[in-house]
Amino acid sequence: MTKRAYKYRFYPTPEQEQLLARTFGCVRFVYNAVLRYRTDAFYQRQEKIGYVGANAELSRMKKTSETEFLNEVSCVPLQQCLRHQQTAFKNFFDGRARYPNFKSKRHRQSAEFTRSAFKYRDGQLLLAKSKEPLVIRWSRQLPSEPTTITVSKDSAGRYFVSCLCEFEPEELPITPKMVGIDLGLKDLFVTSDGIRTGNPRHTAKYAAKMAKAQRALSKKKLGSRNRAKARQKVARVHAKISDCRMDGLHKLSRQIVNENQVICVESLKVKNMLRNPRLAKSISDAGWGEFVRQLEYKALWADRQLVAIDQWYPSSKRCSACGHVMDKMPLHIRAWTCPDCTTKHDRDVNAAVNIKAAGLAVLALGENVSGMGQVPLSSSR
Ligand SMILES: [Zn+2]
Repeated sequence: MTKRAYKYRFYPTPEQEQLLARTFGCVRFVYNAVLRYRTDAFYQRQEKIGYVGANAELSRMKKTSETEFLNEVSCVPLQQCLRHQQTAFKNFFDGRARYPNFKSKRHRQSAEFTRSAFKYRDGQLLLAKSKEPLVIRWSRQLPSEPTTITVSKDSAGRYFVSCLCEFEPEELPITPKMVGIDLGLKDLFVTSDGIRTGNPRHTAKYAAKMAKAQRALSKKKLGSRNRAKARQKVARVHAKISDCRMDGLHKLSRQIVNENQVICVESLKVKNMLRNPRLAKSISDAGWGEFVRQLEYKALWADRQLVAIDQWYPSSKRCSACGHVMDKMPLHIRAWTCPDCTTKHDRDVNAAVNIKAAGLAVLALGENVSGMGQVPLSSSR
């Protein structure tokens, strides 16, 4: 059994909207207050506060008269946010992440409910302290009863509920096909079979709309209601771009996983190219990181193999026909002829063929190929 999140849009009643606003506010308040408390303890007394200490601070706040309002919402999301904070601290102390940030009112708001704080029956979801079930647009059926749900409101003002469920991944028929993938900019990727995806420039497509919304925002008075409205309009355009991009990436990753048993990619290329400021924007727009992340979990569910190729492998400089390695292969060269065997190459297809060959070599050597632990690098949103 595997766990997976199923996300749906929902439309809160005015009562639920109020309850959620209060809950989000309390979650943010607790998160920030406890983060401040831990930060001060560390800087003033070199004291590390753990989860138990953080939770004790929450209990203290609930008993203090100025912060009594915390009792008006379910206590589960408040505890859950401290669990997440604990993970953030662990990642920081293990050197995997930066120091935890304070939560801002302007960004996505969320609250997590575990089983004791919601009821799910006959396709209806009821939150603790709420009288009516959520009006959810069930775009697909839940495979099982959710164990945890996360309610969120994005900066465009849309509400979502994400249900964590156990599910049985669908087994795909075994296919003999294997593919190498070269991630690019002109095309999101090119396969070793010579298939090009093109690169829908979602940001460019909405550039005019975005510019208009941003211009309108810049003219509104600071702190005014109209400014808040204009900001939400900008957020809606952002949301639209991100939805289109995700939709496109899901279709492509699904197709690659359905059609191939073995998928070879250059994993670390994503990270390295993002360091190049000239390329970073186009790359995050193309969504390489997100694409590789999708390939990773979809391959895992379908029992396909995803093989990560070493970043130093000269996939672009190597002739896939004879193995000759060129000294240089600047980015602007799209096609070239091998000086050794005179094969004419398309730059990207040649690279994809090399990636496939390298991936198969890794598989044949029986090295650790399933672990792509270092890969995930979620695309910027
Ligand atoms: Zn050659």
